Amino acid sequence: MSLNKQGRPTGTGTSEFALTSDSSLLPNEPLLFEIGNTEHSGVDLPEATITNARLEGFERKMPLDLAGLTEPEAMRHYMRLSRLNYSIDSGMYPLGSCTMKHNPRLNEKIARLPGFADIHPLQPVSTVQGALALMNELSHWLMTLTNTSAVALTPKAGAHGELLGMMAIKAAQKAAGQSHRRIVLVPESAHGTNPATAAFLGYSVKAIPACADGTVDVQAIKDALSSEVAAIMLTNPNTCGLFEPQVIEIAKMIHDAGAFFYCDGANFNAIVGVVRPGDLGIDAMHINLHKTFSTPHGGGGPGAGPVVLSAALAPFAPVPFVRKSAEGLELAEHAEGSALGRITAFQGQMGMYVRALTYMLSHGGDGLAQAAQDAVLNANYIKARLGHVFSVPFPDYPTMHEVLFDDSFLVGTGVSTLDFAKALIDEGFHPMTMYFPLVVHGAMLIEPTESESKQTLDRFCEVMEELALDAKAGNAARFTAAPLNTPRRRLDETCAARSPILKWERSAALPQAF
Ligand SMILES: *Cc1c(COP(=O)(O)O)cnc(C)c1O
Repeated sequence: MSLNKQGRPTGTGTSEFALTSDSSLLPNEPLLFEIGNTEHSGVDLPEATITNARLEGFERKMPLDLAGLTEPEAMRHYMRLSRLNYSIDSGMYPLGSCTMKHNPRLNEKIARLPGFADIHPLQPVSTVQGALALMNELSHWLMTLTNTSAVALTPKAGAHGELLGMMAIKAAQKAAGQSHRRIVLVPESAHGTNPATAAFLGYSVKAIPACADGTVDVQAIKDALSSEVAAIMLTNPNTCGLFEPQVIEIAKMIHDAGAFFYCDGANFNAIVGVVRPGDLGIDAMHINLHKTFSTPHGGGGPGAGPVVLSAALAPFAPVPFVRKSAEGLELAEHAEGSALGRITAFQGQMGMYVRALTYMLSHGGDGLAQAAQDAVLNANYIKARLGHVFSVPFPDYPTMHEVLFDDSFLVGTGVSTLDFAKALIDEGFHPMTMYFPLVVHGAMLIEPTESESKQTLDRFCEVMEELALDAKAGNAARFTAAPLNTPRRRLDETCAARSPILKWERSAALPQAF
């Protein structure tokens, strides 16, 4: 361990990161109200001439108390804040399962074309034929890539798509007089949204364990099947980064028992253009456009999680959907035969449809397959470079698009997975996904995606290796104190999540999350 010029420790093998680790150019940014004062304003407004007469006593009695800032002051405040953001545009973002791939600028350019950006959902359809054609073409690509019969574009995120898919399954079973099916099978390695979705729809969730090799326990599925089971929610490739080798047998088993196969398609980016999930026997699968098809991520929006449906579920797709009419294309708006009606207002996230189709057309089918294969190659490269230092819980299979390590390499060091991830921040990298999936202790799930160059992967691996060796060498303090080079140090994340301070009050002496 060495010290940087502020006397803060920094890694030894990472001299090229000395600059990024140095926070002296990123001072703590005060709040807008702490910079400005009410004495002056960046704009000159004439005195209001409106009298309070029409407000009937509801007029403001106190000064507005806005922070007055000049334009350069306001500009610099927001610019400095923006520099505190770590983003996919500023560096590698190896969050496993989240697929933080590059968002191509071409997508942004096309999404800003006035014919897409400036239209309104209530415009007459005759004036938005191009937008409807785009939705139609996107639907065609999604159905072709998955070999399925229908697609619901409207869900606004993967989790929302799960809800829609399971609602379609529920509606299909109701129509078939099968409403007594109340159990949904969910592997223990599943994302939390899977059991949450099933429970939200009133199903009881039966957990299916993983085998010692990281794949789902097929015998346990067989044992759990009965005339009470509505569906399985299976992720493939699974959250341990492994392609389920018996997925076709599982689909057959599920169908023979009269149940449906919901596939969590969050990891479709590992196999797009190579494997069509419809060929594996899936009945419904959401596709996170922000994972597989390069649209931006962001806080449950602007997301889009279209759901593809098998022939058996196609009649239960929600409205609206694009269809041909004598005058051209139209949106089927009414619940004509749809048991579900709508799941969102209007037609969903148009801007994301444009970006996703732009990505598809700019890659072509072969380019999408290449991207998937490169993502898998990059994850296997990290596994090969780091496997001798980190512990690989499931070494039997090659990994797909993400590599899973557990915390057994840290045993006895006094360093936890959390500490390790925080130390990575000091070295200029966003941490990997931690403590997920739950099937291994102290999980670290790393997904580089195809976006990263070999040079970046090598730097990341060097940093990871240096940190692991330092932890093993007994330098626990570097980890337990991390991050040292950030404007905020170790946060009380529970307090930050449970008691967020969302409102500034001048006199408040509130508890702080840091
Ligand atoms: C991301 C993810 C989801 C949820 O998708 P959102 O678009 O974030 O709602 C579900 N399952 C898995 C495995 C995921 O990685």
